[in-house]
Amino acid sequence: MATPTVVLLPVWAAGHLMSMLDAGKRLLARSGGALSLTVLVMQAPGENHRSEVAAHIQREEASGLDIRFHHLPAVEPPTDCLGIEEFVSRFVQLHTAHVKAAISGLACPVAALVLDFFCTTMLDVSRELAVPAYVYITADAAFCALLLRLPALHEEVAVEFEEMEGMVDVPGLPPVPPSSLPVPVMDKKNHNYTWFMYHGRRFTEAKGVIINTVTELEQSVLAAIGDGRCAPGFPAPTVYPVGPVLSVTPPAEQPHECVRWLDVQPPASVVLLCFGSMGFFTAPQAHEMAHGLERSGHRFLWVLRGPPAAGVREPSDANLGELLPEGFVERTKEKGLVWPTKAPQKEILAHAAVGGFVTHGGWNSTLESLWFGVPMVPWPLYAEQHLNAFTLVAYMGVAVAMEVDRKRNNFVAASELERAVKALMGRDSEEGKRAREKAAEMKAACRKAVEEGGSSYSALGRLSEEIIKGANK
Ligand code: UDP
Repeated sequence: MATPTVVLLPVWAAGHLMSMLDAGKRLLARSGGALSLTVLVMQAPGENHRSEVAAHIQREEASGLDIRFHHLPAVEPPTDCLGIEEFVSRFVQLHTAHVKAAISGLACPVAALVLDFFCTTMLDVSRELAVPAYVYITADAAFCALLLRLPALHEEVAVEFEEMEGMVDVPGLPPVPPSSLPVPVMDKKNHNYTWFMYHGRRFTEAKGVIINTVTELEQSVLAAIGDGRCAPGFPAPTVYPVGPVLSVTPPAEQPHECVRWLDVQPPASVVLLCFGSMGFFTAPQAHEMAHGLERSGHRFLWVLRGPPAAGVREPSDANLGELLPEGFVERTKEKGLVWPTKAPQKEILAHAAVGGFVTHGGWNSTLESLWFGVPMVPWPLYAEQHLNAFTLVAYMGVAVAMEVDRKRNNFVAASELERAVKALMGRDSEEGKRAREKAAEMKAACRKAVEEGGSSYSALGRLSEEIIKGANK
């Protein structure tokens, strides 16, 4: 009989697609040949994403692993959405019939369907076809807990969250300031918010939630999800913390220019600034950053992107002449490098010269930083990053706080960046010392977790066994 397959339904954004593929490959390896992988590929809206996805698929197809890619027919993207979360959720939903047809048409038995957390509408398909479904969370457990809790919170808090008195209760976390909630949660009238509530409620219907986190990092939150405290009255999903899922590739043969620059810097002396696939700054903010960095006196590697060109969503390569104060690059050339396009972040974080990371706090970047034991200063910009900033500082203790003015487009003043960089990098800074120690501890925990006998290794084993058992029933 053909090997039972696990069907993955990822969304196209790199941080989602790559994370899910890597988790799928780990599951495949862990099943010891008892499972194969089938990836349903939605045609991404937008040419940039389409060519990025095609390149990833080409690489995976050449890997020789038991993975098949099944391209779903294209759908017309909705044109009346107010935000990204609504757009992604509705765009996915338009694929319902195609997903059902693709799964029904597979020649091999289908052992499980694993859905990106934006794809919970497909739980209907899994029910109709009687295929066990799991939700894959590309973010942390705190985010999962908040979404599970959101429908009840909505009832408890009659006003907008930023107008509420007191703190937000998310089981397993310290009290969360309302100003630290994810962007889509800040406007109850927006459809993005409604979709977040929808997904959170539907998580409880899944056979399990697979989270790209590590037990040692979020123990109390994972316990709260697992014992049903986040959504009382609904079934508690079985939780599989399988992270950190990140593909750490061997360094390029020809070292990148940023890496060559780091090679001649002293150990742990450089602060990296990098802001994910969507982070960018306009000239007034970039000027503040430049002054703050210069005044901090610390060495820096600054990956700077500019505003998107008309008609695109992604940031543009930075025009340094337009974005930076006059003479800045020349004045700081002994101490700093400004890199105007995407940089190999993982390779940079792996370098011994890097001692701190000012990050937008996307979850992949966070896990990469912890994998290499680099303490952070979070500078949240979009999506769930404000919540991550809170948990990194107040719950995990691996970051130094910085004041970000959310009401002014996440503005940070030069003096505040200077203070935060000094606190993070200064050898005699108590705050920095605490974050460094905790980051080193989490580095060790992350590496242990994925080794044989570690917490994530065991969780993946339990998941694999459960899926295989279900397939052989
Ligand atoms: N990244 C990179 N170079 C850059 C910016 C980002 O390699 O200049 C990578 C980063 O290492 C991470 C991913 O892009 O793997 C960003 O994912 P994350 O979840 O942190 O943020 P998102 O882009 O989804 O907001």
